[in-house]
Amino acid sequence: MSQTWNFYAGPATLPAPALERAKDEIPNWENTGMSVMETSHRSAEYDVVHYGAMNLLKELLGLDDDHQVLFLQGGASTQFAMLPMNFIPEGGSADYVNTGTWSQKALKEANIVASGRIAGSSEAEGFSRIPNQAELDLDPDAAYAHITSNNTIKGTQYHDFPDTGSVPLVADMSSDILWRPIDANRFHLIYAGAQKNIGPSGVTIVIIRKSWIEKAIQGLPTMLSYGTYSAKDSLYNTPPTFSIYMVRNVLEWLKGNGGLAAMEKTNRAKGDLLYGVFEDSAGFYSSPVAKDSRSYMNVVFRLPSEELEAKFVAEAKAVGMVGLKGHRSVGGCRASIYNAMPLEGVQFLTDFMKEFARANG
Ligand SMILES: *Cc1c(COP(=O)(O)O)cnc(C)c1O
Repeated sequence: MSQTWNFYAGPATLPAPALERAKDEIPNWENTGMSVMETSHRSAEYDVVHYGAMNLLKELLGLDDDHQVLFLQGGASTQFAMLPMNFIPEGGSADYVNTGTWSQKALKEANIVASGRIAGSSEAEGFSRIPNQAELDLDPDAAYAHITSNNTIKGTQYHDFPDTGSVPLVADMSSDILWRPIDANRFHLIYAGAQKNIGPSGVTIVIIRKSWIEKAIQGLPTMLSYGTYSAKDSLYNTPPTFSIYMVRNVLEWLKGNGGLAAMEKTNRAKGDLLYGVFEDSAGFYSSPVAKDSRSYMNVVFRLPSEELEAKFVAEAKAVGMVGLKGHRSVGGCRASIYNAMPLEGVQFLTDFMKEFARANG
């Protein structure tokens, strides 16, 4: 089989060593004669995986003692509703910065269970950039302020997080968690579906301040209350053990490769290489995104016509590159170049892009 370079937005490419390790361990994991999938989530062997993944996340992100890592199910989409259920009090509201599809979905759920308010938006400009601090209209009494750190569909990303004063800052980091070192302790809550940057689908990572959980709304259904997961270290019921096992493998790979600082270096090299090809292409490739808001995870671009875009995607596929079609809601092309995509894969893509522009420009 020849090399496949996987540019899908999610589920997305995983580091080869994390997959190889699973392949080796599935028949006989930790000398149990079983795979992790078949083992009790109350076993000592599983504990090593569960707490291993939690501790690696804490270590990689430099979390303080007030921050706890939880493993949930239902994807980031369930967090859209669970967050306001737990934290918007009767008569209160939360602030949302509207930067595209995923923020809009988060806001929609907030308005189903409580009340959400738009505190900033780039909708008038087609979500081509991230609103800056001066443009935000923040409510000092908001239950929290919510941002989407990376906009997977529009290809924009926060490079500086907003200052929300004493209002708790919350972020959906589904498509860029762990892409670089950040001050994660600034956030009251971070959530991310694992299937973009840290593992397979099936587990949702929540990083939350324990002191905030103490102030959460009481009386919610057990499985919709953060307190349940916090009190039992995400072992109240059966967690998605195989997904968490894969996350652990990915985090060990990440740590072994030099952690987040090394990851950022590679990610910047990948993004700069790809954006550089646009600059040098005399307009053949164009980015709809403002320069200061460009994403290093999801690089969206256009070609001169939809016909050329379809030809580009088909010819790329023929040489082993999959997932380059843009999201159905926006069209165009998109290369998702998450942590697990090596620089070599982006080099392969950019070589192809230069050749394609020469042949079709
Ligand atoms: C993919 C994505 C989601 C949806 O995640 P699910 O786990 O499928 O619910 C939410 N937010 C962002 C930023 C995403 O990229």
